[in-house]
Amino acid sequence: MDELIFSRRGVLKFAAAAAISGTAGRLFAETNIINNNIRKDKIMDMNSFAGAYENGQYTLPELPYEYDALEPLYDEETVRIHHDKHHAKYVKGFNEALSKLESARKSNDYTQIQAISNALAFNGSGHILHTLFWHSMKPGGNEGKIPSDFKTALDESFGSSNAAMQQFAAASKAVESNGWGILAFEPVSQKLLILQCEKHQNLTIWGVVPVLVCDVWEHAHYLKFQNDRAKWVDNFMKLANWEFAAHRLEEARSASAALRG
Ligand code: MN
Repeated sequence: MDELIFSRRGVLKFAAAAAISGTAGRLFAETNIINNNIRKDKIMDMNSFAGAYENGQYTLPELPYEYDALEPLYDEETVRIHHDKHHAKYVKGFNEALSKLESARKSNDYTQIQAISNALAFNGSGHILHTLFWHSMKPGGNEGKIPSDFKTALDESFGSSNAAMQQFAAASKAVESNGWGILAFEPVSQKLLILQCEKHQNLTIWGVVPVLVCDVWEHAHYLKFQNDRAKWVDNFMKLANWEFAAHRLEEARSASAALRG
């Protein structure tokens, strides 16, 4: 079959053309078969979140390459267990935490909110970070080549791309216990930063964009409310600027549309 040599993009273009010609159903079915057969040769899809959320549920995306494609630098067995077992468990836990939160809202019972919020952050961050992790590697690497625009960004943020790589490796090696080395874009300065993430379950999901925040550090309320944080939070809820939140949501949606591809 000639179709077997199509790249994924080629297949998608082929399917799009078929949709226009009115024979989409039959050809889309063939496309699935073609996709399975060309996995060995497929061109990496840069849309890192493809397959990570479908039909209202978080889902385990397929690897952007074969299980053994990173050999000998990263072995097939580890990749297989890491993706099929560990990453899959985060996806399951993420959906379960959301379902427990739905039940809590329905019954207005928030007695388990801390445990469920912890599970949400642990599994949510696990899913998002692993999805990015698979795309953060490529069979054979880039042979040291950095796209010129990205090199400029590294130069501006870290002095040089070489310094950025040294810092990234050093930070990743020095993470205490479990965690991640993370190269991240910081929107206020529009620059890149290198972060250590010691425990991704620390009650946030990496990649989220805050739209409304309430400071519950003691300095935020101690003068007037002393130890009564609940009173301060109740007052904050009366002060909350939902128009600002709506504006932030709009900004976040338009920015993330590009990230999701
Ligand atoms: Mn992992």
